[in-house]
Amino acid sequence: MTTLTVDVAIVGAGPGGSTLAALLARRGYSVALIDRDDFPRDKLCGEFLSYDAMPIAEALGIDLGGAPYIEHCRVVGRGRTYAFDFPHPARGVSRMFLDDALHRCAADAGAQAVTAMATAVSRDGVTLDDGTIRARVVAGAWGRWGRFDRQLERAFVRDRSHRNFGFKRHYRGAGAKGVIELYSFAGGYLGVNDVEGGITNICGLVHARRLQGHKGKWDSFVEEIRAEEEPLEAMYARYEPAQDGFLSSEPVIFRSRSAVEEGIFMIGDASGVIDPLTGNGMAMAMQSALVAAPFIAEALDDGDRKRSEDGYRNRHTELFNHRIAWSRRVAFLLSRPALLDAALRLRFRAAGPFFLRKTRADRDVIAKMVSGS
Ligand SMILES: Cc1cc2nc3c(=O)[nH]c(=O)nc-3n(C[C@H](O)[C@H](O)[C@H](O)COP(=O)(O)OP(=O)(O)OC[C@H]3O[C@@H](n4cnc5c(N)ncnc54)[C@H](O)[C@@H]3O)c2cc1C
Repeated sequence: MTTLTVDVAIVGAGPGGSTLAALLARRGYSVALIDRDDFPRDKLCGEFLSYDAMPIAEALGIDLGGAPYIEHCRVVGRGRTYAFDFPHPARGVSRMFLDDALHRCAADAGAQAVTAMATAVSRDGVTLDDGTIRARVVAGAWGRWGRFDRQLERAFVRDRSHRNFGFKRHYRGAGAKGVIELYSFAGGYLGVNDVEGGITNICGLVHARRLQGHKGKWDSFVEEIRAEEEPLEAMYARYEPAQDGFLSSEPVIFRSRSAVEEGIFMIGDASGVIDPLTGNGMAMAMQSALVAAPFIAEALDDGDRKRSEDGYRNRHTELFNHRIAWSRRVAFLLSRPALLDAALRLRFRAAGPFFLRKTRADRDVIAKMVSGS
């Protein structure tokens, strides 16, 4: 039976929750970091860690070990391929490795890791399946979709027309070798990149309507898109599965969300979901923790709760909303193979760098976040 009283209770120990826990524990606050899972654990994700996350990982002392460097992006269309370089290297790192490293970092900083299912949240605390945690501040870092979104009556939960699902599997084979490849199919897209240990991750996102008739069988869906798109068939033929089955996700709904709900500070995907094609969701989750930490500290220290909540909500909107909007525009193109091919024929060489600028933070903004957190 868990009974705790802390300064901050954080529900969810993904990249957002664990980063926030480490930052607040380093500031000397008592922190409970709650997750239903034991770590290390696998998770649906493309496992492409954007260069946006590197200064944060470095400041936290996270060593990414053998995670391969990814320096280029290749968009593979039906008739054309478009390649561009990243301004800084990204890394291919499994969630088994990264989430565990961040979770340990939070615990090393002094956060108390609690393995339990959170069953109710309010601004004063969290109810667990085996106890309660009272807290002066509660942070919601439970990811893109959870029971609390319904409990808090968040508007996006009711959206049935924009539901997408993710699928991921690890493979062995040719390897992507320093490149992330993006492939298009009707109603979705997928990305291919290497992670540590000689593994290649193939991970995609698809609109729910495309899954009708497959009865939850990802094998049958992947066979279908391989038959539809030649580049996909050629790519999959280079790999053998290294995992028994596919990992899938809760629904992914790209509707705007508030960064503070009923006095709960939302972190990471719970505060806003950027399209996965950017490979920037984990970086943004970590950045939102950096943005939130000083506002939460302010709420704890001087008690002007409203000012801290408004401050975080406004800063969050300013930093992330336009990036999310741009990500959706490009996803629209990438999930329509014929349209993508027409766009690739224009040979607009600056498209990649332009898109990167629109969906990522400036280096000096990240540096300021790191120093201010
Ligand atoms: C198809 C797809 C591909 C993607 N590919 C990439 C990529 O390549 N690169 C990238 O940067 N991002 C990618 N993303 C996005 C990325 O996965 C998320 O942005 C990131 O995981 C958000 O981190 P988070 O900490 O907010 O939440 P999460 O990582 O989702 O963590 C939430 C945590 O909360 C816990 N939790 C939830 N509910 C409860 C509860 N009731 N009680 C206790 N614990 C709870 C969960 O166990 C989990 O550990 C992808 C997303 C999708 C859908």
